[in-house]
Amino acid sequence: MPAQQRASANKTLGIIGGMSWESTQSYYRLINQGIKERLGGLHSADILLHSIDLAPIATLQAQGEWEELGDIMASSGKRLQAGGADAVLIATNTMHKVAEQVQAATNLPLIHIADVTADAIKQQGLTKVALLGTQFTMTEDFYKQRLIDAGLQVLIPDTDARAEVHRIIYEELCRGQLLDSSRQYYRQAIQDLVEQGAEGVILGCTEIGLLISQNDSPVPVFDTTAIHAAAAVDFLLSDATSSPR
Ligand code: GLU
Repeated sequence: MPAQQRASANKTLGIIGGMSWESTQSYYRLINQGIKERLGGLHSADILLHSIDLAPIATLQAQGEWEELGDIMASSGKRLQAGGADAVLIATNTMHKVAEQVQAATNLPLIHIADVTADAIKQQGLTKVALLGTQFTMTEDFYKQRLIDAGLQVLIPDTDARAEVHRIIYEELCRGQLLDSSRQYYRQAIQDLVEQGAEGVILGCTEIGLLISQNDSPVPVFDTTAIHAAAAVDFLLSDATSSPR
C-alpha cells in the first residue's frame, strides 16, 4: 500500500514521558514533525502518552530506590499496552536503568535510547565519544556499557564536572530554566573532553538539547532526544513486526 494510505494508523507508539515534561514536549513535536515530513498532508503520529510526575521519581532516584522505580515504570508500560501501544518508548535516558523491567512486564518492543544513539554515532564513523547526562547515565553500566558493547569508547567529565552537569539538569533544565552561565559550563565540559580525544558528544539527557546545540560544540553533537524521536518515526512507519532498535 502506498505510504500515504498506510499512514500513521499502522502503529501506535506508547510514550512514558514527563521526565521531564520539558523534554517530552520536544519528543511530541519531533515525532509529529517526522511523520508530517515523511507522509505529508494532515498526517501526524498515533501516540499514547503517559506523563509521569517527575518529583517523586527524582526523590526515589536520589534515594536509590530502583526497584520501586522499576515497578512504577513497568506499570506505566502496562497501561500503555492496555491502551493499544505497539511499542514503548521511555522518554528519558536515566530511566532506561529499568528498561528491562518495562520490557518484561509488557512484552512489547522497546525503542532503546542508547542503542539508537550508538547506531547514529557509528553511522558517522566515530568511535570515541563524550557522554553528558545525569550521574546515573554517565557512570553506570546500564547506559555506558551498552555503548561500549556497540564498539564505542566513552569519555565522561571528571568528578566535579559530573556533579555540576547533573545539578544543572535537575535544578534548571527539568524546570525549564535555560541559563547562559550553564550553557557556558557545558561548552567548557565539552571542550575539555574534546581535548581528551572525543570525536563527538552525546547529549545523553533529554533536556540538554534545550540548552546546547551543534553551535556549542567543535565536534558533532548527538542529541538523544532527536535521535530517539527519529527512531520512533521509523518504527511508526515500518511494516515490520520485529523489535525496533
Ligand atoms: N530526562 C533526563 C534524562 O534523559 C533526566 C530526568 C530523569 O529522567 O531522571 O536522563
